[in-house]
Amino acid sequence: MNGDIILEASGLTKEFRGFVAVADVRLAVRRGSIHALIGPNGAGKTTCFNLLTKFLQPTRGIIRYKGHDITAMAPADIARLGLVRSFQISAVFPNMTALENVRIALQRRRGDSFDFWRSEKVLARFESDAQRLLADVGLTEFAATRAAELPYGRKRALEIATTLALEPEMLLLDEPMAGMTQEDIDRISSLIKRVAANRTVLMVEHNLSVVADLSDTITVLARGQVLAEGDYETVSKDPRVIEAYIGA
Ligand code: ADP
Repeated sequence: MNGDIILEASGLTKEFRGFVAVADVRLAVRRGSIHALIGPNGAGKTTCFNLLTKFLQPTRGIIRYKGHDITAMAPADIARLGLVRSFQISAVFPNMTALENVRIALQRRRGDSFDFWRSEKVLARFESDAQRLLADVGLTEFAATRAAELPYGRKRALEIATTLALEPEMLLLDEPMAGMTQEDIDRISSLIKRVAANRTVLMVEHNLSVVADLSDTITVLARGQVLAEGDYETVSKDPRVIEAYIGA
């Protein structure tokens, strides 16, 4: 496998009772890139995303991450290899503050067993690391706010912070801009750019101007198949892509 490729899928296929939702997809994500998966509704993006994050088992095909065959691995095991999917909002503890949520994610990652005897020093370390992560995602002023009370866009930023606490090498984001105001979109876009400075990001995203702004490479899916791949300039001019979007 090309050493520059961090995640690679080949022949990826998913059938639901005979209906082929993802058909023989080949995907190669370059290390350090921001790669977007786009396509009209029903194209198979979510299914593909769920296959890559192992929330669904493929009917056929192989997925490799950093040279490991992860096709049969569980999500928790691939997370340990550094491939992490952003949490759903429901995974953020609503009654805990933003700071507590990040601190707990850090403690989990580092195998802290919530030991009654852990030292003040260790606790202080988690606290200061959590504060640094909150600052990274622009949430310092919300540190003491309960997650349930955060504005929507800030909740998504918290979700990214708790994901970053797991120290991923590669981050998979499922529609990070869904339901956001333009101000949130601008903030999360610059966060994703910063996150991607030393990581790989693969995202499913509907908002094409976000895709144009952020992505190095775009894979366009339609009817479960790869229709086109390349940078935004290339794929946005591809007549098959235009037709798939107009015809959708
Ligand atoms: P997208 O995310 O691009 O909108 P999806 O991956 O959600 O597309 O869906 C692709 C196709 O697979 C759709 O036709 C959808 O109805 C079908 N599909 C998705 N999940 C299931 C499922 N669990 N059972 C049956 N069909 C499904």
